[in-house]
Amino acid sequence: MVRTRIAPSPTGQDLHIGNLYTALFNWSVAKKNNGKFIIRVEDTDRERLVPQAEIKILNSLKTFGINYDEGPDIGGPFTPYRQSERLSIYSKYIRELIKKGHAYYCFCSKERLDEMRKEQIAKKQQPKYDKFCLNNIKNPEEKIKNGDKHVVRLKVPEKNEVRFTDLIRGDIKISTNEIDDQVLIKSDGYPTYHFAVVIDDHLMQISHIIRAEEWIVSTPKHVLLYEAFGWEIPIFAHLPILRNPDRSKISKRKNAVWVSEYIEKGFLPQAVLNYLALLGWSHPEEKEIFSLSEFIEKFELKNVNPVGPIFDLTKLTWMNQQYIQQMSESDLKKEILRLNPIAQKLPNKTLDKLIPLVRTRMNTLKDFEKLTGFFFTDPEIKPRNEKEKTIIKELNKSLKELNTWNKDAIFSVFKSILTSQEIKMPILYYVCTGGEKGLPLPDSLEILGKEKILSRLEKLQSSL
Ligand code: GLU
Repeated sequence: MVRTRIAPSPTGQDLHIGNLYTALFNWSVAKKNNGKFIIRVEDTDRERLVPQAEIKILNSLKTFGINYDEGPDIGGPFTPYRQSERLSIYSKYIRELIKKGHAYYCFCSKERLDEMRKEQIAKKQQPKYDKFCLNNIKNPEEKIKNGDKHVVRLKVPEKNEVRFTDLIRGDIKISTNEIDDQVLIKSDGYPTYHFAVVIDDHLMQISHIIRAEEWIVSTPKHVLLYEAFGWEIPIFAHLPILRNPDRSKISKRKNAVWVSEYIEKGFLPQAVLNYLALLGWSHPEEKEIFSLSEFIEKFELKNVNPVGPIFDLTKLTWMNQQYIQQMSESDLKKEILRLNPIAQKLPNKTLDKLIPLVRTRMNTLKDFEKLTGFFFTDPEIKPRNEKEKTIIKELNKSLKELNTWNKDAIFSVFKSILTSQEIKMPILYYVCTGGEKGLPLPDSLEILGKEKILSRLEKLQSSL
């Protein structure tokens, strides 16, 4: 049974775009193999906990259609799915590990640890716990009874090798001499990430651990824990980290990182997922636009390129525009109304006429407001020269004379003014909309209506 998971920490504003990328790949592997996709919330870092983050993360997954089979809000066979509710489980397993001699109590003060670290750095050694408490504390239980502050550390075997296979990166081995006796249980009684992740992935029967590359350095520590418990080691795959165009790790300063920001900016979930699918992976027929079901069918984890792909907003915007072109008019209308409340102010009929028009010029759903501003408010137009003043008068006069009000008739008026005045379209745009480009102008004026445009031109002319 294939069981995959993401294990987000509720320490940010929302689901991170990198987490959505990881979620997509985990979800697809589960779907491809008729398996299950699980959400486990890793909320053991109590200091960095952000209230509401969990709800936001779960909602964002739902917005993107990444449905999960088990999770903190829906439960499942391995409930609870929130680590803060699993403390008794960790304490049972830590006792087992201590009993087996694979973990030990450590009472070292922060001052001692800082001092030790400083000395090691000065000697150009890799900073590592020196096993002082393992070798010197004979009766830890007594100290604990006395209320001495303590942590529990993993006893990393000396002069050994840890090996594991990563589906994307191949065989990896590392000497245990390079691995610290990491803390498993903190002094506040909460487990560290390393400990809780292994216990939960094992108990939740996770078959594939697919996560970001930044966790690969932790994997040997996890493998040591699996070995200490005598548990089967799951399959690992570390996905490349998404990068800014300058190759730095994707960050708030250079890109939006929270997925809700993409939704608010008018990106379509399907377009974002399609774009993410192509980061580190390519369609065997080099296709760029494909459905999620096609992705699930064609995608293989082993074909992921481990080199960090660039998250290119221009490309994503292009893809979004492609998806907007493909949407049905009714879906597009719904989405436009959701993201641009101002659209509700338009009569339904006008909005219906505008949709096919704006669609041709929209990159994101939010562009609606920008493109249609002059439908809602009289644009502020200040003729910049005599020529523009003449054009306003000409336009007012010729449009007034029109008997039929449609885009062709309007266009013929434009054509004659363009020729007689020897001007280009942007000037006409300006005197009609206050901008210099946007929606097809004759079509827009047809929809805006003769009365409205003439009253605006009239007002403008009288102010000259
Ligand atoms: N809690 C970790 C995170 O925030 C999970 C890492 C993992 O998938 O093991 O991403």
